[in-house]
Amino acid sequence: MPQSPGPALRRIPSVTLLLTDPAGVEILSAYPRPLVIKLLREILEQKRRDLLAGREPQLSPPDLWQELGLRIKAKTAYHLRRVVNGTGVVIHTNLGRSLLARPAAAQVELAARYYSNLEFDLTLGRRGSRYSHVEELLTELTGAEAALVVNNNAAAVLLALDTLAQGREVVVSRGQLVEIGGSFRVPEVMSRSGALLHEVGTTNKTHLRDYENAVNERTALLLKVHTSNFRILGFTSEVSLEELVVLGKTHGLPVMEDLGSGSLLDLSPFGLEKEPTVSEAVRTGADLITFSGDKLLGGPQAGILVGKKAVIQMVRANPLTRALRIDKLTLAALEATLHLYRQPTRALQEIPTLNLLTTPPAALRRRARRLLHYLNRSNLSSVTLEVLPTVSQVGGGALPLSSLPSYALALLPLKGTVNDLEAHLRSQPIPIIGRIEKDRLLLDLRTIQEVDIPVIRESLTAWVAVPQNP
Ligand SMILES: *Cc1c(COP(=O)(O)O)cnc(C)c1O
Repeated sequence: MPQSPGPALRRIPSVTLLLTDPAGVEILSAYPRPLVIKLLREILEQKRRDLLAGREPQLSPPDLWQELGLRIKAKTAYHLRRVVNGTGVVIHTNLGRSLLARPAAAQVELAARYYSNLEFDLTLGRRGSRYSHVEELLTELTGAEAALVVNNNAAAVLLALDTLAQGREVVVSRGQLVEIGGSFRVPEVMSRSGALLHEVGTTNKTHLRDYENAVNERTALLLKVHTSNFRILGFTSEVSLEELVVLGKTHGLPVMEDLGSGSLLDLSPFGLEKEPTVSEAVRTGADLITFSGDKLLGGPQAGILVGKKAVIQMVRANPLTRALRIDKLTLAALEATLHLYRQPTRALQEIPTLNLLTTPPAALRRRARRLLHYLNRSNLSSVTLEVLPTVSQVGGGALPLSSLPSYALALLPLKGTVNDLEAHLRSQPIPIIGRIEKDRLLLDLRTIQEVDIPVIRESLTAWVAVPQNP
């Protein structure tokens, strides 16, 4: 006959008793009482089930409080956390894309903590427009007649198509029906906007006559999508924006380009691919150009529309604009970021995305060696370190062919596997995200900041203390 669990269950201390324990008193002074009690009950319930199943759980108050301490930390920690980006992907969509420049972050704090003239005209003392804070800067920096900003570039494209082509046809090259990041597909956004897709050409070749043949009385717009996240190489041809603008003029049709990444500066002098800048696109005479705020621009998440005054006015009058509107924190960051572009050398220095993309390999090698020496002084016995050349990526679906020569700190664990080490670094208070290559964990110095260095040391020191699995 099985033994009755009754006496065993009596070994579980009561909540009331635990709360009078000194450790309990201390936890109660730091965390809300209802949360402490709820988690404690959960733990005790688990112990009861363990006992009933014949297991031997830890039941001493210090053990129980330690378990509660861990649970409560996990429960009350912020879910959105800082991480160290050791991937070398500068515009990493999963890790937050662009970092803000210092003045942009400062403006965010200002807009967050104080009232502002968000929609108030300080000269006239009456209601103003939230778009006024960036429109002039955008027209000055791009040469466009007018500008408007919304929540992100996907919203900008949706809004533009809804305004210009609802229920009518938009002519697009088949080679430009792209998917970006799995959640933005040009054909799907078009169908949501109520525009009808009129595909022309083939995957690798589209000619001007293809567009010309497609134009009919239902045509509303000629659209070019910058295929920013891939390249079709070899036997290809695309119609330039200039040619589309001429065709549009002939037929009285507006021409739009979704530039995607949208760079305000030409980065080709720094060894990156030549991308059309926003000003170059504007100079073709296109009616509307859209791009992201947090890709190559290096600002906050935003969708920027620049173009002809009449077109921007139509877009602004669309009720959807209100639904997709940009918030004040984003506006604050965007204005400060754009300000930096008035002095391109300052922009390259102070906007992290531009700074990281243009850091020369020699500087990255020096940083990698300094990090190596610094860590070697810390006696990290359970991992060997070396500096290896590697290649970073721009990311964010921009400049797919640009490979940026870089240097990485390569970690080879002397206990456990490289996957164990990767998981350990990822589970630290400030997680470190690296890349596994040939049984080593690489931390690419291009995306590692000075302030990340002590974090890396602490996490590796903690790895030394992790008991080795047999
Ligand atoms: C990235 C991208 C988008 C989407 O921009 P978000 O700012 O991420 O919304 C749209 N079109 C192109 C061509 C892109 O590269």
